Amino acid sequence: MMFEELKKEYLKCQRCEKLCKSRLQVVFGSGNKEADVLFIGEAPGANEDKNGVPFCGMSGKILDELLGSINLLREDIFITNTILCHPEGNRNPAKEEVENCRGRLDELIKIMQPKVIVTIGNFATERIIGKTGIKSIRGKVFDFQGVKVVPVVHPASYLYSGRNPEMLESMKKDFEIISKIIDVKNKQRTLENF
Ligand code: URA
Repeated sequence: MMFEELKKEYLKCQRCEKLCKSRLQVVFGSGNKEADVLFIGEAPGANEDKNGVPFCGMSGKILDELLGSINLLREDIFITNTILCHPEGNRNPAKEEVENCRGRLDELIKIMQPKVIVTIGNFATERIIGKTGIKSIRGKVFDFQGVKVVPVVHPASYLYSGRNPEMLESMKKDFEIISKIIDVKNKQRTLENF
């Protein structure tokens, strides 16, 4: 399947009854579909639901700062969520909703073939590598079907912490791991070209 086909199918998705009622629109994802890095968050919040772009609110500003710390822009990555629709009252996604969106995310990964997947927070991390406890696994490198996976702390946790500066510093360290993986891959690619 091609990226545009997948997007077209899911923009009119009706799999989850509750989400169809709570969403204003399906937030499929944004950025560069050819990117080496795929970021996966939890679910669109109210801002994302209005604007149709993942991480376009306060958490998104923090994410942009973290990306900037390793010289990445939104156009260098693709970003989506574990589920594509805003749950009412910002509740957690239900298990069934995560399952209903499983085929979509698996297919996206298959199409994009990223070099690294960054799971933002517990929901995305559990969905991709089946592990929880983000505080102990953050910044470590896991594998999902041959693709490297780096779980990172959700920017919302930093906001809830009252913007603890030490927390931001440790989040930046986790982003350096992402940077190293891309650099190594880029070097390999350069060598392969000679
Ligand atoms: N939080 C998420 O997990 N995803 C978004 O798109 C916005 C906030």
